[in-house]
Amino acid sequence: MFLPTTPEELRDLGWSQLDVILITGDSYVDSPFVGVSVIGQWLLKAGYRVGIIAQPDAVSGRDITRLGEPALFWGVTGGCIDSMVANRTASGKRRREDDFTAGGINLRRPDRAVIIYANMIRRWFKETKPIILGGVEASLRRIAHYDVWSQSVRRSILIDAKADLLVYGMGEKTVLELAARLKEGQAVSDLRGLCYAAAEKKSETRELPSYEEAAADPAAFTEMFLGFYRNQDSLTAKGLCQRQDSRWLIHNPPQFPLTETEMDAIYGMDFERNLHPHDALSGKVRALETIRFSIPTHRGCYGECHFCAIAVHEGRTVSSRSETSILREAERLASLPDFKGYILDVGGPTANMYGIECKNKLLRGACPERRCLFPTVCASLRPDHGRQISLLKKLRRIDGVKQAIVASGIRYDLVLADRKHGKSYLREVIRHHTSGQMKIAPEHSEERVLECMGKQCRDSLLAFRDLFRLLTTEAGKEQFLTYYLIAAHPGCTKEDMEALRRFASRELAIHPEQVQLFTPAPSTISTLMYHTERDPFRGRKLFVDKTASGRELQKKILVAKKAHLRYGICGNTQTTKKEEEGSWVRIKTSKKKPRRNLPKH
Ligand code: SF4
Repeated sequence: MFLPTTPEELRDLGWSQLDVILITGDSYVDSPFVGVSVIGQWLLKAGYRVGIIAQPDAVSGRDITRLGEPALFWGVTGGCIDSMVANRTASGKRRREDDFTAGGINLRRPDRAVIIYANMIRRWFKETKPIILGGVEASLRRIAHYDVWSQSVRRSILIDAKADLLVYGMGEKTVLELAARLKEGQAVSDLRGLCYAAAEKKSETRELPSYEEAAADPAAFTEMFLGFYRNQDSLTAKGLCQRQDSRWLIHNPPQFPLTETEMDAIYGMDFERNLHPHDALSGKVRALETIRFSIPTHRGCYGECHFCAIAVHEGRTVSSRSETSILREAERLASLPDFKGYILDVGGPTANMYGIECKNKLLRGACPERRCLFPTVCASLRPDHGRQISLLKKLRRIDGVKQAIVASGIRYDLVLADRKHGKSYLREVIRHHTSGQMKIAPEHSEERVLECMGKQCRDSLLAFRDLFRLLTTEAGKEQFLTYYLIAAHPGCTKEDMEALRRFASRELAIHPEQVQLFTPAPSTISTLMYHTERDPFRGRKLFVDKTASGRELQKKILVAKKAHLRYGICGNTQTTKKEEEGSWVRIKTSKKKPRRNLPKH
């Protein structure tokens, strides 16, 4: 069932008051891929009466007051994506489209949605129940963090929103314990996965440099961020505290990863997998096209790419569902009247981490100073894709399923490191589980840039490309690799983009059309590099292009159709005045002197 969203729906359920009211910056889609609906359904399953208000009007009290006041707490999230990332480009331009808003026009979610919604609750309900922040925006902004949109280090969002508590990470366990304790009137300050503000610092916590120090000094910010980042494993993390103005932010250790049984219980809930009828009046939600017929198999990622926030939000430990639970969900999908036979994705943050985890990590926690996949795959990981092969085979035997596609990104270094089943896994995916294109994420080709990204060198990419070609030919299919590439990452120059263009053309035989422009999202290592202009591990100074024109230029170098439409291209070493200024101009690229410069773009 959908959670109630209006007084009429409350009446239909015979509920006079809700225990919990959830506010979200997205339209209300009830799906296992949408955090607010997972939390809402999880609380409902435990016996709490939960309602949801999606994208409330930010000016009037019309929406925020419509379900009354909850008996236990308010839960506030910006939605599936940080509201600033969803609403604005890194240079601050407003994005017009929104995949999580009904109708697709980006008009319903305010900037800094979590702060706005918390303030709205305070405005319309003076002495109200606790306001608890959660979701990606709150989680990634839980301590002092660099915010590119204000070009400043900001306080914890808990302090800025004047909220009572903040649940970080994947919140099911913490929220359930929280609800039970609040119901019984018990203290909650020892709960894992929780942040709160206090007048005193907590004993036995590690003190990070204060907000003021981190804001004033990049070296203190680096010390603060690394202290935070290295204390995110539930088995080894210490509690943290950070002075923010006159108060202390207390950051309890992370919640334990879910067991297989807990994962099955959560993903086995009966989601509607649809947009709430009330929101559907405004049009379709584009994200639903992909997630409606997709199956999440696991969560967490030990890839630790520096530009990605998953390690800080979902954690470095992969929790997987059982095969039985996934197959049951596939059967349920196949029975839906509008199912056309295609499961559009079977995966997680990285598709092929399902069922692969390090035994040492599960016993003793993730290594604080070592990476599981970088610079090479750790010998202790012992990847084995056997379980995934078995799952895929069973999925395609289900009545009504024509194809179960692995659309999530595949980590090719993991495939290559699995000597026993890596090749068979890839063969299986190529033969039966791609839509013709397989997505992988080399992100770049140049070693210095890859090092800044925390990605493996290009040798493993080339080895994978060869294996892919071999197995595709063997299968008698015409299939392609699709590559995710990033421009303007810290450490990346326009010469690096030129080299990437040459590499893509020569080695991958592609002309990239879609390239992601690096966005410094809160609380990633790459954002730390962007802000401080230093490599935090090697201490060396980094080139970081922060100008809108320079960043766009890096992208254009890669995607421009013709060489002569690019800027500063190889073959023409002559530097014009405009080049020095970093402008992008059409410039002739023959070895001869350029004949003319066309107007700026
Ligand atoms: S031993 Fe290796 S695979 Fe295991 S947690 Fe440490 S770095 Fe990761």
